[in-house]
Amino acid sequence: MKSWSRLNRQIVQCQKCPRLIKHCQRIAREKRRAYRECEYWGRPVPNFGSPPARVLIVGLAPAAHGANRTGRMFTGDRSGDWLYRALYKTGFASQCESTDSDDGMRLIDCVITAICHCAPPANKPAVAEISSCRSWLDETIDQVKPQVILALGQLAWKSTVDVAIEREWWAARRPKFGHAVEVQLDNQTLLVGSYHPSQQNTFTGRLTEEMFDRVFRAIRTCLDADVTA
Ligand code: SF4
Repeated sequence: MKSWSRLNRQIVQCQKCPRLIKHCQRIAREKRRAYRECEYWGRPVPNFGSPPARVLIVGLAPAAHGANRTGRMFTGDRSGDWLYRALYKTGFASQCESTDSDDGMRLIDCVITAICHCAPPANKPAVAEISSCRSWLDETIDQVKPQVILALGQLAWKSTVDVAIEREWWAARRPKFGHAVEVQLDNQTLLVGSYHPSQQNTFTGRLTEEMFDRVFRAIRTCLDADVTA
């Protein structure tokens, strides 16, 4: 099996979706005014964290001026502020703020990936682009071997279920996505759903901090129960 660093190198060098590669490069060239002094990453963003890890968090895609700028998943944008705060409060991250790839952040027992490793226009990857990227999700799951997969948003949930069906981990009717929904995929892997901490959800109150934290506390309780069982 490929090593973790080799997998991440291959993700960074991936060119399977020309539309997305061009978009990432264009954003990196044009930049947002507030970041005009920054050197943008402008490529596919690798997984963050490293195995062994009991929790795998699956996001949608890098934000144009967040991870596409910093080169680290959920780093440098508002969604990341929510995610790392929740991870820190439940002991999965070494600090609560994630500002850039040199900020000293360490994930603890946790890896962050995405169903699309390139920033898409309007935050919407095409179906074909998500499918092209699924092989990276598949290999990431193989290497991390998580006990819990947390899918942030409906599309992350769908891609994870697709992988589970391909692996014959799941043979029943497709499980419906919902916030804090839990589905046991096979004997070892629990799939948990959460609304994505996007501004669309957090600004409208569809997702509150308490709702988000509750999902992470439930995951922590589940892992702790497993250790003491
Ligand atoms: S979205 Fe995924 S498959 Fe497409 S170019 Fe980026 S890394 Fe490759």
